[in-house]
Amino acid sequence: MIPEFDHPTFHLAVAQFDQAADAMNLHHDLRERLKIPQRALTVSLPIRMDDDTVKVFMGYRVQHDSARGPSKGGIRYHPNVNLGEVAALAMWMTWKTALAGVPFGGAKGGVTVAPNTLSHKELERLTRRYAAEIFPLLGPDKDIPATDIGTNQQVMAWIMDTYSQQVGYAVPGAVTGKPLSIGGSLGREEATGRGVFDVTLEALRHLGIPLEKTTVAVQGFGNVGSHTARIMGEAGARVIAVSDLSGGLHNPQGLNIQEILRLRQSGEPLLDMKLGDQITNEELLTLECTVLIPAAVSEQITIKNAADLRCRILTEAANGPTTLEADAILADHGIFTIPDILANSGGVIVSYFEWVQDIQRFFWKESDIQQRLHKIICSAFHRTLAFATEKKIPMRTAALMSGIDQVAQAHTVRGLYP
Ligand code: NAD
Repeated sequence: MIPEFDHPTFHLAVAQFDQAADAMNLHHDLRERLKIPQRALTVSLPIRMDDDTVKVFMGYRVQHDSARGPSKGGIRYHPNVNLGEVAALAMWMTWKTALAGVPFGGAKGGVTVAPNTLSHKELERLTRRYAAEIFPLLGPDKDIPATDIGTNQQVMAWIMDTYSQQVGYAVPGAVTGKPLSIGGSLGREEATGRGVFDVTLEALRHLGIPLEKTTVAVQGFGNVGSHTARIMGEAGARVIAVSDLSGGLHNPQGLNIQEILRLRQSGEPLLDMKLGDQITNEELLTLECTVLIPAAVSEQITIKNAADLRCRILTEAANGPTTLEADAILADHGIFTIPDILANSGGVIVSYFEWVQDIQRFFWKESDIQQRLHKIICSAFHRTLAFATEKKIPMRTAALMSGIDQVAQAHTVRGLYP
């Protein structure tokens, strides 16, 4: 292990890769190449705080692979961000884009910061300095950032503006997940949640479970978790629990998601809302439900709690929520897992649509975006399911093998430079 990347999440990504590479007999040379990111940049970000002191933050951008096209991946603002975690997330992006069949490689970025502790102005200065420091890597034909934990449309707008200022003209295709007024796409904000819904519905159909009899628990009520819960509820499922970092709400009769969203809009903390019983994040994961959806951070389902899960389907909206040991336990317990690189690929699929629209300067209707997303993600789901069934392998291994195979083919045909 290269010491710079030594981190539990990177170990998880590499262990998953090794498992799939073994199953597909991946050639040693490709294996060596694909285990290590292509490029990794560490930057320090001195920021003038509102009290006039200067504070230095650390930032990262990792491009795992760009054999199939420009690298693509979100930017995370979180206190636990480090180079190893970003490298793991970048590797998962490579397999995810390849599995979905969108012409991108994988990247990820991050800044070690708790964004809610900064003022709006401090956040803007931090974002602009970060974008300026990683500028040499960026560009619509090189590497295209998007949102992830702790970043939003406003952060993407600042990155787009900083990039555009450097080159001297507006470049909407430099980032995705940005506001509509500067070339954002209809349907991008809810895209990951909508994709999570689409694949979960296909899994329910596969298992013969009607949506009206489906109960859902969602860990993490940010961009992905809140849209997932809303769309699930609108379609007729009963969302019985949601949570954020502070804990969760549980109501076996079903939570009123619209009301939670309305109260959150007015600034009310989730735990203060009198809409259900308070539970911890740990308790949420072991609730009896049809579908459990982790939509927060990695390594939530581990050897400690995997045997206690009481769901029928695990839809991994978050990246890397399940450890390797937990995976084996879930398989023994017959839990149908939709792996992260498939389950949350709606985000990068609609990011691809946004990039295409920006480059063509031609924008699509929301219904077109939803239909095309549905077609691509459901096709990836059924391809993965058919492959897993045929080879008698877990869904995760099948998804990883398909993604890795696409990337391996690109490397093989391009050859090794020089
Ligand atoms: P977000 O910042 O909008 O929301 C994160 C949510 O998780 C918040 O509700 C936060 O309170 C909660 N949370 C944070 N730490 C937690 C913890 N330790 N325990 C429980 N809850 C915790 O982020 P997001 O964009 O919704 O991303 C969520 C997950 O989905 C991440 O794993 C991300 O990598 C993945 N993802 C996001 C996108 C996207 O388009 N935004 C796409 C694909 C995958």
